[in-house]
Amino acid sequence: MSYRHQFVEPFCDQAGDLPLGKVVCVGRNYAEHAKELNNAIPATPMLFIKPATSVVGLETPISIPQDKGRCHHELEVSVLIGKTLVNATAEESKQAVIGYGLGLDLTLRDVQDRLKANGHPWEAAKAFDGACPLSQFIPAAEISNPLTLNLTLERNGQLQQQGNTAEMITGIFELIAYMSTMFTLLPGDVVMTGTPAGVGPLLAGDQLVLTLFDSALKESGGFEGYRFNVLVGNS
Ligand code: ZN
Repeated sequence: MSYRHQFVEPFCDQAGDLPLGKVVCVGRNYAEHAKELNNAIPATPMLFIKPATSVVGLETPISIPQDKGRCHHELEVSVLIGKTLVNATAEESKQAVIGYGLGLDLTLRDVQDRLKANGHPWEAAKAFDGACPLSQFIPAAEISNPLTLNLTLERNGQLQQQGNTAEMITGIFELIAYMSTMFTLLPGDVVMTGTPAGVGPLLAGDQLVLTLFDSALKESGGFEGYRFNVLVGNS
C-alpha cells in the first residue's frame, strides 16, 4: 500500500508523517441524494467506516471491482483530522481539522441493494480495497469558509454531481462532533461528509474531473479552487 496523506502544491511538505487511519463516513447527508435512491432521511447521522486498506490516491488510475455489478461514484468532501477527538464539541472539531479535499465513496450498488434488502451491514459494498480514492488535501488555513464549498464531478465531459457543503443535513463540524461520540477520531483519520445527488456507475476508461471551490471567494475573484483529474483503469 503506497498511499500517504499529502497536501496540494505548494503545501506538500506540511503533511508530516500523519499515519493513515480509518475513514469515517456518513450516509444520506444530502436530501436530494437520499431521494434519488428512494431512501428516508435518518433522524441521526448514519455512520459507517472504511478501513485504511480501502484508501488509494488519485494520482494513478483507480480501479473498480469486476463482476460485482455496478460500481457507483459518490463524490464527497473529505476532511483530514489532526487531533484526537472524543465526545468533542463542534468548535473542537473545527479546530482539529487540518485539511479539506475530495474523496470518492465507491459503492458496489447492486451488492449494497442486496445487503440492504436483507438488513445486513454494508462493508462488502463499501469497504473493499480501493473503495476510497482520496485527493491531496488543501490546508484548512487556505479555505475561508468550509461551510460553503462547491464540489463537482464530471464524467467524460458531462457534469454528473454538483453540490455545496451548505446543503448538508448535518454540517461538517456537528457531524465530526457526532462521530466522536461513537468512535475516537485520531490524527490521520479521515471523515467523509456525504454525497450530493447525481451518483452513477463508473466504467474502465472513464475520465473524471473533480473540483472543489469556495463559492464566496470565487465570486470576489480570489480563490480559484482545485481540480483533480482521475482515470478509471482496468483492475
Ligand atoms: Zn457516501
